Amino acid sequence: MSKEKSPEKELKEKLFYNKKNVYQLIDDEEVKKITAFSENYKKFLDDAKTEREAVKFALSAAMERGFTEYQPGSDLKPGDRVFVNNRGKAVILAVIGHDPVKNGVRINAAHIDSPRLDLKQCPVYEDSEMALLKTHYYGGIKKYQWTAIPLALHGVAVLSDGTQADINIGENESDPVFVISDLLPHLASEQMKKNGSSIIEGENLNIIIGSRPFKSDKESELVKLNILNILFEKYGIKEEDFLSAELEAVPAFKAKDIGFDRSMIGAYGHDDRVCAYPALMAALNTEKTPSKTIITVLTDKEEIGSDGNTGLNSSYLRYFIEDLAADFGERATTVLSKSECLSADVNSAFDPTYPSVMEKKNASYINYGVVVTKYTGSRGKYGTSDASAEFTGRIRSLMNKNNVIWQTGELGKVDAGGGGTVAMYIASMNVDVIDVGVPVLSMHAPYEVIAKADLYMAYKAFRAFIDD
Ligand code: MN
Ligand code: MN
Repeated sequence: MSKEKSPEKELKEKLFYNKKNVYQLIDDEEVKKITAFSENYKKFLDDAKTEREAVKFALSAAMERGFTEYQPGSDLKPGDRVFVNNRGKAVILAVIGHDPVKNGVRINAAHIDSPRLDLKQCPVYEDSEMALLKTHYYGGIKKYQWTAIPLALHGVAVLSDGTQADINIGENESDPVFVISDLLPHLASEQMKKNGSSIIEGENLNIIIGSRPFKSDKESELVKLNILNILFEKYGIKEEDFLSAELEAVPAFKAKDIGFDRSMIGAYGHDDRVCAYPALMAALNTEKTPSKTIITVLTDKEEIGSDGNTGLNSSYLRYFIEDLAADFGERATTVLSKSECLSADVNSAFDPTYPSVMEKKNASYINYGVVVTKYTGSRGKYGTSDASAEFTGRIRSLMNKNNVIWQTGELGKVDAGGGGTVAMYIASMNVDVIDVGVPVLSMHAPYEVIAKADLYMAYKAFRAFIDD
């Protein structure tokens, strides 16, 4: 029998676009690299559950690798490494390249805030001899997913004397955790008739923090008093100090391998630490001086629309580039209009349990590599930057040249919903930008899932962009 390919098969191979699973394309060496990178990523996930903690992690790692605080007006040379700390909630890292900045810079951007429950300003109360905390959810969540799971509290309180108390309770094995109650099914017949969005009302996201009264029968609110007494002894916090606090309740889960084959990772906050971490590592692992100046920005507030002075709808990145341009005697507009950016954010992975919201030919898949998303938005591409064919083509060849396994993706089928990223804020500075990222299952849930191979391909994509 002849082993020759039929002409039809040959023609198909020549003309058809076929996606392949990463594991069909890589060797054992690369599998080892994926595993090693993933182990470090899991540590990062457990250490940095909030934007403030991610900034701390990024800055201490950057300083270890020779980054120093940027001072406008300094005499920068190729190879210099600088950082800008924006209020402890966003960070910019830059490595000065050989090529003059007037020829443009390369930006990798990702966000480090994740959906969660923020405490209100007057959160503590007692009801029926239980102490609770009022919350206001942050970002797009399915509220019912946040009940009956262990929660940890992270954040800061600025005390009346101006000092700051750092709070992190619920992450150590010996720490207590907190929880939001839900109705027992036996008594939930009315609740279960409600719409999904109101099964748990926003004002019912109340966190249980105690039940034991202060030993006395003279006063009311003795459970609250006992809790405030514990908080005062441990952190020096009085009730009034919550007025000037940013406390975030996040799932107390640790990052874990998912599956018998350990090919995936389950964790809180993959969106968008699964892009922030590889972007950060690509910047930190830059050994030789890059050709273009590279800028890595880990930003805050993406989950609530990028508004606020630590989000990318503020001018902090633009101001940095203005200062950098001035250091070299150039105009920021010249630099920006020649610059390029990978806007790194997650995409919705195709979920075999929920195929109806996806259009199979254009969805991204677990284990098919980093996703390059030309446009996001909704209702006819509103709220997106929609990368040009030219820039998409440039990124396509960059990925292929560097053996980065990649796929395209779309955030659900047309009119199924949609969403946005920071890409449009970068584009508004006249920078060429495209979204890249990692496909996620159960996005915005307390426990999200990604594939290790896709995480590693995201790292390779950022490296390729930096080293190009
Ligand atoms: Mn995101
Ligand atoms: Mn998100």
